[in-house]
Amino acid sequence: MTVRGKCRCGACSYHIAIDALPRVYACHCHVCQRWTGSAFSVQALVPEDRLVVTGPISIQEVITEDRTSTQRFCSTCYGRIYNTNTRRPGVAVVRAGTFDRSEELDCVAHIFTAYRQRWVVIPANVASWPEAAPPDDFVRALTV
Ligand SMILES: [Zn+2]
Ligand SMILES: [Zn+2]
Repeated sequence: MTVRGKCRCGACSYHIAIDALPRVYACHCHVCQRWTGSAFSVQALVPEDRLVVTGPISIQEVITEDRTSTQRFCSTCYGRIYNTNTRRPGVAVVRAGTFDRSEELDCVAHIFTAYRQRWVVIPANVASWPEAAPPDDFVRALTV
């Protein structure tokens, strides 16, 4: 199937050739709270080579000690669409709110919950970690 999405203004759109809507996770860290202006960010991990974006894209590289995150924004509305990260080559981290049919997404993991806003209630049967998730556990939660 083809999963589609777009930025707020619609100048940038994308499609992803995958079998089903991807599972998504929420990150409650302070960076995500500040960047989204919201309580948490929600993302999907998809194979970068399945993602095709059309439209005017602006790029921002965020360099930290051990990694470079390359963020892609719509050049018209500045909506953040996805990023890649040198720690996870070949994986695109897509902002879940940009998906068409986002109301059908299933959030299967929460990370950095030590920083969650107190009104956010995480279901007991959903995987969560107070800080970063161990990479293997995290990938398992998103792919099982
Ligand atoms: Zn836009
Ligand atoms: Zn975060």
